[in-house]
Amino acid sequence: MFYCDACGKRAGWPLDSLRRSHGPCECCGEVASCNDVPSHSLSVARTAEPLTIVAYQLINEDLTNLGGPMGTEYTTERWRRNYKTLPEARAAAERDYGEPIEWKGYSSGDLGHVMYTIQPVRV
Ligand SMILES: [Zn+2]
Repeated sequence: MFYCDACGKRAGWPLDSLRRSHGPCECCGEVASCNDVPSHSLSVARTAEPLTIVAYQLINEDLTNLGGPMGTEYTTERWRRNYKTLPEARAAAERDYGEPIEWKGYSSGDLGHVMYTIQPVRV
């Protein structure tokens, strides 16, 4: 299982600080530093309450400060906007970008100067 701290806590799963990588949580879809723990080692498997998606938050991230020497790179968040559906959020990103985007799940990937990330908002 690949899960974020919030989902791990809710399900009572270990929050393993050694085996972590960045990516979308298998429970909530949020892109975060997630725990990467084999399912068979989870005593309570998949008991996290399913949450309802109430919105899709589109995040516009400025990547123009990437590519410099190590330690000087950073990204800046320009804005976040909420949409009712995933297609609406994607369409809004493409309108903003000015071209169709080849989505990798909830992320536009690195588009050079900008990256769009969509985070489902769950309750
Ligand atoms: Zn999660």
